[in-house]
Amino acid sequence: MKLLDNKVAIVTGASRGIGRAMAIRFAQEGANVAFTYLSSVEKGQALEAELAAFGIKAKGYRSDASDYKAAEALVAEVAADFGTIDVLVNNAGITRDGLLMRMSEENWDVVINTNLKSVFNLTKAATRVMMKAKSGSIINITSVVGLRGNAGQANYAASKAGIIGFTKSVALELGSRNIRCNAIAPGFIETEMTGELNEKAVEEWTKSIPLRRGGKPEEVADCAVFLGSDMSKYISGQVLQVDGGMLT
Ligand code: NAP
Repeated sequence: MKLLDNKVAIVTGASRGIGRAMAIRFAQEGANVAFTYLSSVEKGQALEAELAAFGIKAKGYRSDASDYKAAEALVAEVAADFGTIDVLVNNAGITRDGLLMRMSEENWDVVINTNLKSVFNLTKAATRVMMKAKSGSIINITSVVGLRGNAGQANYAASKAGIIGFTKSVALELGSRNIRCNAIAPGFIETEMTGELNEKAVEEWTKSIPLRRGGKPEEVADCAVFLGSDMSKYISGQVLQVDGGMLT
């Protein structure tokens, strides 16, 4: 018996990084996995085959998580293809860093829409299916930056802090329907997103981490397996930090 046997999961933004690691860990644990990507079409298609090799049903969808109508259509398509939705992981996210003085309206809007509005879009659509099934687990990927702020990331920090308020509200609203909603706050995880940072910034981050290293996408994925599985069936409304002890 595996931790996610027979569960259907949607992971947004799974062509790379943490999303990809979560899709793979979910498949290893027996889940059927629907996942999305936006620009990385080839990587998305390759992941579909990689996941299917675990003997589960896997399908990739090209879908913009920040688009309300597209999210509705995606959830309807996944429900038709897979029969139900047990776990939703809202992972798709971007950065457009810069000091507030130089931050354009466009860079504010695109980050809020991609990171925060997407969570509203997908959660609203998926909870209709989960309410029918009378169970569900929603996992929203926030960040330690949403808990403490970060100079040069006012847009990103606001989007991630917004996710935390949203998560707690949904947990309160939907608990009586047996739908749980939690957030994971990764610290410094080695992906393409953090690969953009210069060596000095990476050194500074590493120094501030008690475990003295960046995290691996798989280490965030392990936490998502726990929150998606029945191992966490009495846990809702929480923010679990996966940050090597950075923020205590
Ligand atoms: P990443 O390597 O840059 O991957 C981002 C993923 O999101 C890609 O698969 C991308 O797909 C997808 N995506 C972007 N915009 C999308 C949209 N509008 N619709 C659908 N998919 C979209 O990032 P990552 O480091 O794995 O981060 C994943 C999540 O963890 C993000 O929410 C991020 O904020 C959060 N996080 C990361 C860290 C870290 O240290 N890396 C720390 C804390 C939190 P395409 O390539 O197809 O566009």
